[in-house]
Amino acid sequence: MKRDPYEVIGVSRDAEDGEVKKAFRRLARELHPDVNTHDPEAEEKFKEAAEAYEILSDPERRATYDRYGFEGLESRGFASAAHGFGSFADIFDAFFGGDPFGAFGGRAGGRVQGGDVAVEVEISLADAARGTRVQVAYDMVDACRRCGGSRAEPGTEVQACTRCGGAGRVRAVSRTAFGQLVREQVCDACAGQGRVPSEPCTECGGRGVKAIRQTLDVDVPAGIADDQRLRLSGRGHAGERAGPPGDLYVIVRVTEDERFVRDGSDLVSVVDVAAPAAALGTTVSVPTLDGDEQVDVPAGTQPGTVVTLRGRGMPAIGRRGRGDQQVVLNIVVPRNLSPRQRELLSELHESLGEDNLREPADESIVGKLRRAFR
Ligand SMILES: [Zn+2]
Ligand SMILES: [Zn+2]
Repeated sequence: MKRDPYEVIGVSRDAEDGEVKKAFRRLARELHPDVNTHDPEAEEKFKEAAEAYEILSDPERRATYDRYGFEGLESRGFASAAHGFGSFADIFDAFFGGDPFGAFGGRAGGRVQGGDVAVEVEISLADAARGTRVQVAYDMVDACRRCGGSRAEPGTEVQACTRCGGAGRVRAVSRTAFGQLVREQVCDACAGQGRVPSEPCTECGGRGVKAIRQTLDVDVPAGIADDQRLRLSGRGHAGERAGPPGDLYVIVRVTEDERFVRDGSDLVSVVDVAAPAAALGTTVSVPTLDGDEQVDVPAGTQPGTVVTLRGRGMPAIGRRGRGDQQVVLNIVVPRNLSPRQRELLSELHESLGEDNLREPADESIVGKLRRAFR
């Protein structure tokens, strides 16, 4: 039972050509057997995706499929090229070299930009505040160093393809129930390149490209937010036929820090203060990104009071200065009193007068509510 090509590629039925192409490229990069070594089914899935793309990228085939399904395609003589690929190397050729689906830039001979690569890194909040350097490792298709992408063994010649006369494409005529069918196909002798090396490069087997594991140091700027992407131009897959390479996207994940909540460039933290200490006045130790800081709690400090530590927050990328740290003072009422403590508190309670509980004159009830709910 074949899967619906729209489902395979992951696009809606009214998706435009560009969308289909983009989705296929993304999928193909994920599934390519050279890069995807952890999924034993990747090769089969890649063939399935290639066949789906063959159908959806051709307006006539797509319309036929939409109206009559796979049976309609079969009765019109459509046979997928994807399943004709025997070996791994053939798929590689088809995908990165030969371009039988026109997925990578259409006409043979044109320059084709390499695909983009995305890689994820995780850093701490403290590193996000300071800026850091991370090492990323990813699999990519690189130009072969030995032949420099020419596909020929160094010192040997590259000649025009005799099968297609250098055009990269050949016309195939077949007789079908519907009459004579002429299809232009990529030349399989030169894989669409128009030229063939007389002696294929021994390093890349004449493909001009190689899958390699790339390791790179990446500078993460101070102030980066969770999920932000850094673009490293030209660090993606190698281009084809002298096309430029694609880009590398580094997706930065900033892990949560249990001491702080990030609010834009501000950090918010909470510190407990025992109610008697808040009444008497005290000093508390507050963790900041720059180490612990002593903060004065004046006598009579009320629950919900927020102390602002200027410049102890996060920087903003490319800007000077840092945000603030807002320290919420959580006044804790004592529990589990001993008999002696009860006695002392009762005495205190009885001694409290109007003057001890009245709000300061400059704070209205509205101001108090505002402070409580900020
Ligand atoms: Zn080579
Ligand atoms: Zn040829």
